[in-house]
Amino acid sequence: MSDRKSLQTTLIHSDYKAPEGFGAFPAPIHHASTVLFKNVAAMRSRNWQDKSAYTYGLHGTPTTFTLEARLAEIEGGTHCLLAPSGLAAISMVDLGLLKSGDDVLLPDNVYNPNRELGRWLTQDFGITARFYDPLIGAGIGELLQPNTRLVWTEAPGSVSMEVPDIPAICKAVRARRESGQDIHVAIDNTWSAGIAFRAFDHGVDIVMQALTKYQSGGSDVLMGAVVTRDAALIHRIEMAHMRLGYGVGADDAYLVLRGLPSMKLRFDAHDAAARKIAAWLKSRPEIERVLHPAFEDCPGHETWKRDFTGAGGLFSIVFDERYAEAQTDAFVDALRLFKIGFSWGGANSLCVPYRIQGMRRGWNGTGQLVRLNIGLEEPDDLIADIEQALQVMKAQ
Ligand SMILES: *Cc1c(COP(=O)(O)O)cnc(C)c1O
Repeated sequence: MSDRKSLQTTLIHSDYKAPEGFGAFPAPIHHASTVLFKNVAAMRSRNWQDKSAYTYGLHGTPTTFTLEARLAEIEGGTHCLLAPSGLAAISMVDLGLLKSGDDVLLPDNVYNPNRELGRWLTQDFGITARFYDPLIGAGIGELLQPNTRLVWTEAPGSVSMEVPDIPAICKAVRARRESGQDIHVAIDNTWSAGIAFRAFDHGVDIVMQALTKYQSGGSDVLMGAVVTRDAALIHRIEMAHMRLGYGVGADDAYLVLRGLPSMKLRFDAHDAAARKIAAWLKSRPEIERVLHPAFEDCPGHETWKRDFTGAGGLFSIVFDERYAEAQTDAFVDALRLFKIGFSWGGANSLCVPYRIQGMRRGWNGTGQLVRLNIGLEEPDDLIADIEQALQVMKAQ
């Protein structure tokens, strides 16, 4: 081959190399499916599992490894794996640790798609998913069977916001493990962002985060993560990650990396605003209960006080039962700053009505439930918005 390349080849193989030594704060965004090897020996010797080298875009790039390392640090763990959504992270844990014949326990107030996944595992995969009272505490011990491999927890639970006694659940599971059973506790720690609840310090084995929420903070990316302090455990989950092909895009990973420096400041602002608004709602005659872990109305409030150092911006309210669904729907429709939509953790306040009576076993009360996500707007403006919407509701 002559030294002169055709234009077509030159378009692909350029001789230019940018100068070395570029320094900047943001982590570089590495886009790649193919990763290059210097020679065959390098290709044959590389191991994708220990993250000491690169093999293929799906198995990680400097951008995704950097995000994984930073998330492990935040959560107080040692190993992390990314997944393309929070729900994908949940499924990666299940498929990494469960097989046909196994049993998994889920709280009755678990994030609903996780419940749906449990039902699917039961129906089609020969696994049993059983649901427990989220306030069961040490009583979980009586539900553990010899084939129980995984106990999911969520703190607080979705929508109804009960705060579970995680240390008590972990203690019962650890006792089983010490007698030789392969069994672990996983937590969906999304509400606290790993900031307000240090899950590993309370005995949890596996932490799952929906990075879609506070880590990103932008309402513009879907991603999830699993963190452990145990190399053998993450290896099992990593096999599921690899077999399922759960890659994440470099630009998305960058968006999450970009959110991290401001995450705690944002979280603290969501927390302060949510508590201010929750306290105002508590004083309103239209509201029967404020289901925010920092308030006594919330089941598990004492546990929250003992184990948590803060609260997220997400909580629920139960209206006095004299207001019918059509009226509370009118309240939601009348809100101007609060928009109607799922998810949370971004700058915008959101609101979703739930038909809670059909969602929870043994739910007491007939008042309508509405979940609020407090964004980063001025809290007094949000209170004024709620106040005008309450007037619209009462005029119905
Ligand atoms: C949003 C959320 C998830 C799932 O995250 P996605 O990225 O939307 O899949 C899981 N658990 C909880 C508690 C969540 O709020």
